[in-house]
Amino acid sequence: MSDFSAEFSRNLRSAGVVGAGGAGFPSYVKAQGRAEYALVNAAECEPLLKKDQKILEYFPGKVFDGLELLMRAVGAKKGIVGIKKKHERLIPRLEEIAKGRKNISVLKLGDYYPAGDEQCLVLEATGRVVPPGGIPLDVGCVVCNVETLYNAAFPGRPVTETFITVNGAVKKPATFRVPVGITWREAVELCGGFTVKDPAYIDGGPMMGKVMTDFEAPVVKASGGIVVLPKNHPLIVKKSQSRPVFTRVGRSTCDQCSFCTEFCPRYLLGHNVQPHRVMRTMLFSGGPEHKLHSQYGLLCCECSLCSLYSCPEGLNPREACVSAKSDLRELKMGFKNSTLNTGRAPQVHPVRDFRKVPVSKLIKRLGLEDYNKDAPWADISYKPAKVKILMSQHIGVPCSPSVKEGQRVEKGAVVGDVPADKLGCPVHASISGAVGKVNEKYVEIIA
Ligand code: SF4
Ligand code: SF4
Repeated sequence: MSDFSAEFSRNLRSAGVVGAGGAGFPSYVKAQGRAEYALVNAAECEPLLKKDQKILEYFPGKVFDGLELLMRAVGAKKGIVGIKKKHERLIPRLEEIAKGRKNISVLKLGDYYPAGDEQCLVLEATGRVVPPGGIPLDVGCVVCNVETLYNAAFPGRPVTETFITVNGAVKKPATFRVPVGITWREAVELCGGFTVKDPAYIDGGPMMGKVMTDFEAPVVKASGGIVVLPKNHPLIVKKSQSRPVFTRVGRSTCDQCSFCTEFCPRYLLGHNVQPHRVMRTMLFSGGPEHKLHSQYGLLCCECSLCSLYSCPEGLNPREACVSAKSDLRELKMGFKNSTLNTGRAPQVHPVRDFRKVPVSKLIKRLGLEDYNKDAPWADISYKPAKVKILMSQHIGVPCSPSVKEGQRVEKGAVVGDVPADKLGCPVHASISGAVGKVNEKYVEIIA
């Protein structure tokens, strides 16, 4: 690793920069690799979320600065910003900025789901297919989210704020920046409040996000936004199905039409993901817990397309795949030691391009047409009375609190950290104030 890569990586770690696309993977690890291509994932294909396009609209220079730093760190010869061509007003501006930077270009993507799946983006940008069970680095690519690169453009500056979109059943949907650790209720109040009496929300977007009802839950560094919906909205009901329910319904209803597989984006990349076969195993799985030991879900990226779009019976093959992965983990089986790991190079499906699912159709299928509004940028400077900084905001080992109750902290101070030899990075105070409650899950700071 060059001196620059080592320093850049150190800065990312000390600043607590994590993947802001939702996953929260510590970014310093990506900066330590070597890659030919550095890709900016600006596809943002989760319906109704807008934060990446707003960051590119209002702070494009910083995203390009972050990309240049990343390219230098990993030795990339080419930087590519992948953005949907529907952003017609934004793209000429990005192309203009790219012209002034070395070896950076803008790639226009179709408006399909999941264009933002990093393995799909790698294929669109480079023509390369990530091997089954592999990562983009295996084919010379490093992929970063827009906000991650924005954060990377301020070397060593602690991540204390995050960009979010609040959309759906709120009075004034908006995209804005807030201190990490405020509650989602506060975020909704900044958007004028709810428009429905009994709301729930999907944290992270309608497709891959998680249904939540606790609006007191804190915003974290990797938060991208929420979609608020009435609790009885079919999407909330479907995504909240318990394992006994989707198992019972799936066992009795799946007719093995295989549409779930035929539209699966990873199957279309040539990976051996076959949700209909996982469903078939479900039909024959017995015992009180109906453990699922099908290997055909091991490469599922959990995009939800099969459950929320493809299945004509309204079944839940995605959850079947997630359950199968979890049941196989108990047996210590992952893709690498499965019988599906043949070592053969994947062949992209010849009709892949014709099976891309347009986001407009997806929004209809999800029942979100009435909620599909713009969420314009709002320049809000919100000063919360208190914040709750979660110790687990990244993939890896959770932080341990490094402050004590009653202690005074300044904005940007480290309040939790992980040992240097473990995967993870520190979390910081997002406001100045006195430390309130401290436990293994969070540190509270009162302004
Ligand atoms: S699409 Fe639905 S009904 Fe068809 S095989 Fe898949 S889960 Fe079964
Ligand atoms: S959620 Fe369904 S469509 Fe998406 S990768 Fe998994 S099996 Fe394929």
